[in-house]
Amino acid sequence: MKTVVIASNNAHKIDEIRAALDFEGWEFASLKEAGVASDPEENAETFEGNARIKARAAHEVSGRAVLADDSGLEVDALQGEPGVRSARYAGVHGDDAANNRKLLEKLAGIPDAERTARFVCALVFVDEDGTELTARGTVEGRIGYEEKGTEGFGYDPLFLPDDFGGSRTFAEVSQSEKTAISHRGRALNDLKAQIEAQMRR
Ligand code: IMP
Repeated sequence: MKTVVIASNNAHKIDEIRAALDFEGWEFASLKEAGVASDPEENAETFEGNARIKARAAHEVSGRAVLADDSGLEVDALQGEPGVRSARYAGVHGDDAANNRKLLEKLAGIPDAERTARFVCALVFVDEDGTELTARGTVEGRIGYEEKGTEGFGYDPLFLPDDFGGSRTFAEVSQSEKTAISHRGRALNDLKAQIEAQMRR
């Protein structure tokens, strides 16, 4: 068995990664499950940079293969904000309700056509020998005027992906419908294809 440490303790992300990278002989463990203590400062200015910081730090202390992800929301009318600061936009890390309130306040008076945005996910995979693969996925959409739906997390209740015709938020669809088009789903597909290509070599 090859154990890949996922540089996260977020159960939701770990489930998605397990389902997507279903290679025979591979198993995944969260930092906690693998007994890896790693919590580096995520101070890069790009999603890739922060995913690399997390992957390299966990690889250094464990010597294992590691997969790290970093993601967030870019709003065009806000020059790409909240970007790498998505989780702590309103000040407190992970306060989704406050983040959503702040985003709606910042976009007050901004018309439909200018509410374009995208979710971005960067994945960095560092193998046992230190070789690295990077993957990226995005999903385009718009920011709504009020929160809708109860599924998902983060900015999901405000994000109307173009793929759904702009009529349903990410919080109004099932997990599988979201993953089929989401930034994380697309980044995982990209990474899976890269790993498969390496396996064939
Ligand atoms: P991180 O990748 O765990 O650092 O998360 C970054 C932040 O981006 C999260 O706390 C959410 O606010 C936001 N985010 C990332 N992916 C999603 C998503 O799929 N839906 C909603 N919000 C997301």
